[in-house]
Order: sequence, then C-alpha cells, then structure tokens
Amino acid sequence: MQWDTMTREQYEALQDRQLKRFIAEEVYPFHPYYGDLFRKHGILPRHIGSVSDLRHFSELFTTKTIIAAQPEAFVVQPTPKRVFLSPPRTRPLVLVARELARAGIAIPNLLFDQTLNRLPSLLYRFGRVQLPRPLSAKAFLEYRYAPHFPTGTTGRSTGGVPTVFWFTGVDMARMAKLGSRYFSLLGMGNLQPQERRCIDLFPVSIHLADLFLREVSRGVPAMVFPTGGGKGIGTERSLRVAEASEARLLAGVPDYVERFLEYAVDEKRNLSHVERVILGGDAVGPKRRESIIELLRKCGAMDPVVIASYGFTEAKIAFIECVEGAREGGVGYHVFPELGAVEILDPDPNSRGEVCWSTIVGAGTVVLRYRTGDHAAFSWEPCPACGRTLPRIVGPITRKTSDMIKNIAGTLVDFNHVCEVFENDASVTEWQVEIVGDKNAGERINVFVALREGIDQDAVCWRLVSAFKTAADGLAPYTIRVFSHEELVVRLGIETELKAQRIKDLRKEA
Ligand SMILES: [Zn+2]
Repeated sequence: MQWDTMTREQYEALQDRQLKRFIAEEVYPFHPYYGDLFRKHGILPRHIGSVSDLRHFSELFTTKTIIAAQPEAFVVQPTPKRVFLSPPRTRPLVLVARELARAGIAIPNLLFDQTLNRLPSLLYRFGRVQLPRPLSAKAFLEYRYAPHFPTGTTGRSTGGVPTVFWFTGVDMARMAKLGSRYFSLLGMGNLQPQERRCIDLFPVSIHLADLFLREVSRGVPAMVFPTGGGKGIGTERSLRVAEASEARLLAGVPDYVERFLEYAVDEKRNLSHVERVILGGDAVGPKRRESIIELLRKCGAMDPVVIASYGFTEAKIAFIECVEGAREGGVGYHVFPELGAVEILDPDPNSRGEVCWSTIVGAGTVVLRYRTGDHAAFSWEPCPACGRTLPRIVGPITRKTSDMIKNIAGTLVDFNHVCEVFENDASVTEWQVEIVGDKNAGERINVFVALREGIDQDAVCWRLVSAFKTAADGLAPYTIRVFSHEELVVRLGIETELKAQRIKDLRKEA
C-alpha cells in the first residue's frame, strides 16, 4: 500500500491494528505508569481494540505536569520475566530461535563459504560470503528498549527544568526510515544524492528539531551541515558554510532564520541554491513567510518556499506542510497515522479544539492521550494543495498553556491575540512584551518594538497600543518604547537563546 494514497478506512484500520498490538504487547506489560494505571482501573488490553475505544478512558489523560513529576515511569521497561510471560506468545520462541540460529548458522556457513570460495565467480572476487546473522536475543532487546538519545522539553511550564524524552535504537531507525517521505513532501524527492544538502540552523542541544533533521537526512540519505544556529559556530561561520555548501534546504527556528538571512543580505552573500526553508519550534505567520522569501530573493534564490512544521517533544516526531500547501500559505501539517492517533478535544463549531496525541509505535518514552494545550483542527479530507490522502492538522495553532494565557492585574490575557497584533503589523520588524511588578505594587506590561525605517513612529505606536488594548481585553500597556532593530535582537536573545524571549514574565510568583 502507498503511504500517501490510502483511504481513510485503510488508515484507520492500520491505526487500530497497530494500537491494539501496542497496548497488549508493549504498554500493558512494560510501561510503568500506564501499566499501573490500567491495573488500578481494571482496564484490560482487550478493552482497547481501536482508537475510538481509547477515547472512553479519561483516566488516560496525560499532561506535562504528570510526566515532569516522574519522567522515568513513562519509559517502556521490559523485565525478563514479563518478556517471557506477556503476549505475543511467539516472542519467547522468536528470541530462542535467534539464539539457536546464531549458534547453528556458524557451521553450515563455514562449509558454504569454502565451497563458494573455490568457484572462480563474482562471488569469489568479492571475498567471503557473509550470510546475514540475526542479532542475539539480548542485543535485539537492547536495540529495541535501551534508551539511547534524549530530547527535552523547553521546561517553560516546569520552572526551567527540561523533561527528558528517550529515543531507543528502533525509534531512531524509524525516524530515519521516514526520510524519503519527508523529502517527497518537500518536493525534493527527485534530487540527485549530491544535490541533497541541508544547513541545520537549529540549536544543537536536546532539541527535537535538530535530532529530527539529522535522522531524516541520514535516512534519505542527504548531506546535513549542523551549525548550532547562533549558539554553535556563530552566524558568520554558519553563513560561510551555507554559501560554500550550496545548500538547497535551510532549517531552523523562525526568529533565527530571519536574523541569519538579514545578515546574509547585509554581507551580500550568495544563497542562490536555496529552494526550501523548514521552520520549526514556533508558529509562522504570513508576514514572517513573506519576509523570509523576500530576504532569500535578495540573496539570489529563484523560487524559495517557506515550509512550516508542527511537532512536540512528547510525540517524538514533527509534521511538515507539503510544498504545494506551503506555496498557498499553509493548508495543514501532514500526519502519518501509523505513528500515533490525533484527537481533537471539545471541538468548537469550526471543529477546532485541543490537540491530544497517543503514541502507537516504538519504545523509549511513550505517552497516551497527551494533552498538548495547542488548539487546532484535524482533517481527513484529501489535501486541497497536493491531493495526498494523509490526514492533516490544520492551523493556525494557538497555545492555551500557562505561558500564553496569563492573569495580569486581574485580567486574563490571551497572548495568542497579542502576538497577532505585532505579527500582522507590517511596520513592526521585532517586538517584545515584558510583564513586571507584583500583586501588591501592581502588575504592568511594557512593550518594546523595532519599526521599519522612514515611518511615523508616533502614529504606529498609537495604533499598536489601541490594537493591544483590544487584544488584551481592555488592558493597555504601561509603556511602549521604540528600539533599533539590532538592540531588540540582542534583548530577545535570538542569537543566544534556544528560543526568542518574546513574552518575558518577570513577576516573582510566575
Ligand atoms: Zn498536501
């Protein structure tokens, strides 16, 4: 079956089979947190036969706080006893067969080799014939279950302490295998191997996006030049690498990519090979897309396309737009249904609601019914841009978490709306909002903006203040100050932080 042309029924049947197996063979016997939860509430594997069954168990809802309290309990951990006693019944047989095969193959292999090596054939010229030998039972279990690579959340909601999510050998291999799919979504599937070159501008750390790009490139295979963004080898050297490597693909967080390209324009660098830009880690509005395309054109790129992505550490995967959809300004992020199930909780009349994710494959850290706090819609309709039948998460994605919805001086402010005010205003090049004070002395909002040259600053500030007031439910900023673009870039930490500090909450109890 083709991965991008199956019908909804086929995808759902595949998902159900996968989930049923995953719950019975991995989660129920080996997952410390959900295993205990299932036993406590009397949920048996046979109660969960399909994705829709999963939706009956509100006990399974998982949040950032629950995971942060006991991250190790979310890692699949088989014990020798459970490996042999839990389904599938064939598992012990397969493990024993692996050991026998390893011991047994050695003798006939030797004879076989000697016979073949006497023949004056091609086989002879290539030397000894190696029959593939299976991994031993121990090596196989370790490859599957032993944690290998961590990714971490930004720790915004847990007081700056990142929660670690583990990838095992199979998880890494699965991500690499998806490489060709991602390249085909990017419209870069037909490139020659020497033309597949990407510059990785994501911060080198335990950032999911960095790991994602490297593994996907390994699977294609494509050349990838990790630079660590501004924090790694620095913007100047990253730019030299981008130019010299004739990269076709740029990838990074939106703020930094924009900064990187502004620098490239100032330095009059030649980035004419760049065809695609993948942005990850933050929302991308139409203004941002246009500004990046414009900057790239100034560097000589002919027809660059900016592709947004949506991913979160808890799902251990990121989803991207198809190139056709990105050209149209974004029609949604293509999801691979065999990796996990997406639910939309409490949908409103526009069928937008909270995105809830259940992993149905792999090992390492596994979450079920994880509430992301992100609001979006989910569509099974074939993609209007590329025609693929893969389902899509349709934006705009708004975050309803504590770092976006804040109580300031008794008013509940939704910063999703505040962001829009600045992101949609063509005169603003950078912006930052600061919340200061405390409950007793009064809480205040300060706004800092950098504006385009040659415009009436006072008029723009008045317009921004009034739009801010509407967006923030009547709360007006205490001050609004105009900075130069360079000053604000430093304030925001675009080149020094993992993520630009757009909304800075400096209150003590926050
Ligand atoms: Zn599409």
